[in-house]
Amino acid sequence: MGEIRKAAVIGAGTMGAAIAAQFANAGVPVFLLDIVPAGAKTRNALAEGAIAKMLKTDPAPFMSKGAARLVTPGNIEDDLGKLADVDWIVEAIVERLDIKQDLYRKIETVRKPGCAVSSNTSTIPLAKLVEGLGAGFARDFVITHFFNPPRYMRLLELVSGAGTDAGLAADVERFADVRLGKTIVRTKDSPGFIANRLGVYWLMLGVIEAIDAGLDIEDADAVMSKPLGIPKTGVFGLIDLVGLDLMPHINASLGATLPAGDAFHAANRDVPLIKKMIADGYIGRKGKGGFYRRGEKGREAIDLASGEYRAVRKANLPEAELKLGKLLGLDSKAARYAWRVLGQTLSYAASLVGDAADDIGAIDAAMRLGYNWRWGPFELIDLIGAEALAAKLAKDGFAVPAFLAAAKGKKFYRLQGGAREYLGADGAYHALTRAEGVLLLEDVKRAGKPVLKNSSASVWDVGDGVLCFEYTSKSNSLDAQNLELLNQTIDLVPKAHRALVIYNEGQNFSAGANLGLALFAANIAAWGEIEKLVAAGHTIYKKLKYAPFPTVAAPFGMALGGGCEILLHSSAVQAHAEAYIGLVECGVGLVPAWGGCSEMLARWAAHPKMPHGPMPAASKVFEIVSTATVSKSAAEAKEYLFLRADDGISMNRDRLLADAKARALSLVEGYVPPVPPTYKLPGVSGAVSMGIAADDFRRKGVATTYDMVVAGELAGVLSGGDADIIDEVTEARILELERAAFIRLIKNPGTLARIETMLTTGKPLRN
Ligand code: NAD
Repeated sequence: MGEIRKAAVIGAGTMGAAIAAQFANAGVPVFLLDIVPAGAKTRNALAEGAIAKMLKTDPAPFMSKGAARLVTPGNIEDDLGKLADVDWIVEAIVERLDIKQDLYRKIETVRKPGCAVSSNTSTIPLAKLVEGLGAGFARDFVITHFFNPPRYMRLLELVSGAGTDAGLAADVERFADVRLGKTIVRTKDSPGFIANRLGVYWLMLGVIEAIDAGLDIEDADAVMSKPLGIPKTGVFGLIDLVGLDLMPHINASLGATLPAGDAFHAANRDVPLIKKMIADGYIGRKGKGGFYRRGEKGREAIDLASGEYRAVRKANLPEAELKLGKLLGLDSKAARYAWRVLGQTLSYAASLVGDAADDIGAIDAAMRLGYNWRWGPFELIDLIGAEALAAKLAKDGFAVPAFLAAAKGKKFYRLQGGAREYLGADGAYHALTRAEGVLLLEDVKRAGKPVLKNSSASVWDVGDGVLCFEYTSKSNSLDAQNLELLNQTIDLVPKAHRALVIYNEGQNFSAGANLGLALFAANIAAWGEIEKLVAAGHTIYKKLKYAPFPTVAAPFGMALGGGCEILLHSSAVQAHAEAYIGLVECGVGLVPAWGGCSEMLARWAAHPKMPHGPMPAASKVFEIVSTATVSKSAAEAKEYLFLRADDGISMNRDRLLADAKARALSLVEGYVPPVPPTYKLPGVSGAVSMGIAADDFRRKGVATTYDMVVAGELAGVLSGGDADIIDEVTEARILELERAAFIRLIKNPGTLARIETMLTTGKPLRN
């Protein structure tokens, strides 16, 4: 099959439309085809409607407006011929074998040989899908099972059949990994593959065991989440999220296709309450509510016994029940529930080795990525102990699969010479390999010691002369310690290394400066300390910018405030596609003061589309920063110039470090640090016109009274102070203005109230 230059998705429903969007996000032109609806005025109504709907959906399926233009709507009657030109056709139509096969026959009349065809089926075996379609079709056919929503869910289950060409499957895998950003888990052609089969079993157990135990859903969700490294939605919250109405379909399909002895059947019990809820429209968050709902007086939870809603209450579990290490040894109602659900789920997981998956790594990855579990089932078993688990299962009359029994005394994962190995179905340990080209700091850290380290950051050697600077503070917030370590790192690099990458593997790249520390210092009026920290940030960020070697920052998730300013001062950025970048200081009553204003001014002033004169660039930065704009993707960050046009974007999170390192190395030869910019700024009249713009927002009710104070300070910095139109302002002068404005604001009770509210509630105060 080779390169995929053009693709097509057939079926413009929930999944198909969003899968097409992900191809577009990857920069690949894609046709989106559906049927011609009876009586429709426009023949492409379904695909066109799906695209229009996606442009309004939040969280957005598209990463940018430009991406949306890569999707061409069509219909399978008029546009079938267009399939002749594409390299991959994804089928995502109704879950009916006859209808899917009928479509495949049509595809066969037009597709070019070697064009991959894949189905997004959740339940139909590959062997059935290709039956009677000929060897040529089977050779180019795989199942690519995306999860909903396809942009955000990283898991992709890939099934290839007995007749599938291995090279074609490998090409699809590589493209889905590198370009679509998915982590591919190869599964066997067995019902429900891995994630749905094990996940739905777990959810069903979670429901029926809670009913049997007479447990309130709040307690069930509390014990079935945090202690086990499972998201706080637990079981009932998750069913509400995915939709109760989906459950009967998946259950019926798994019930019909799994062999008689499979443990799933015992969990697949008829639950009259769920039936009634679906009939009454309580299908979850997308309907009137589900197990939880928003009642007139606030959130409500359903009583499993009576089916009546009542006010939701806080789960009230003793501390010990919230720790995995203690939980399973307790004999309370909630602890017994947790054990019965988890024990049987882990037992079932062990029975799937060799059946749904070749190895435990696939099962763990499927549950981590498909359900956001912190630990996969076998990692959980290692935490509990395989032997202890097997004994407890046997004691309670639950099945002990042979694979679990055989692990007696062994760990499912072990460290060997700094590398991770897993226990195979053959009883031997095997190296846990990453996809080719994947470099994870997690692995670097297992194998060695940091080059430098303090309480808030570490520095690692990632090979080929590249050092990696890692924040290790809470939320990767910025403080005096990690600033100082960055300072030392910049001095260290030229001694024996060639380039620096700034990267980590936390939840987010960096939440920005540590506001707690700032508030503490302000409360004791330690203004000198605050000034010192602002000045240190200035000095070290500029040292980073003018370092004699290339520096590449690699953000993912949130990169806010000072975390965004680090990007602005690096020679280049390699961003994960899901990077949410912004200068959000105004939201907490401050202005960017580690060079955020000066860098953004320089970028906008140099933008080829900016009209002449000093005002347009300053206004643009004012607009972006005063509203605390955060990009919703890396692609969008380019529109705000938080990223430069030539900054790189990695679709796969696991490839970010390798890509950043490669980018840094590509810059080494002949590297010249940037020349400090000079600025032309609009002066007092500019500040006045920014003030007028802000006041307009206030009159419309969008901006608050204190927003005016903050906006006034920001306008002062961006306009260059109190002279009239000013030529040739230096970078140093803007930094002075940033610093002075910051210090005035942090002394203002309005700002302190904002910071305090942000720290206690996580939400901005609109004073
Ligand atoms: P959907 O009902 O939202 O959309 C199906 C679309 O297919 C509709 O727009 C319909 O008009 C179209 N269609 C029907 N017959 C067609 C034909 N002959 N030619 C072209 N288009 C046709 O369904 P969905 O939820 O998007 O599911 C699609 C597939 O993805 C199914 O196989 C399903 O099992 C699978 N899947 C769904 C999810 C999920 O969460 N919804 C997750 C993973 C996989």
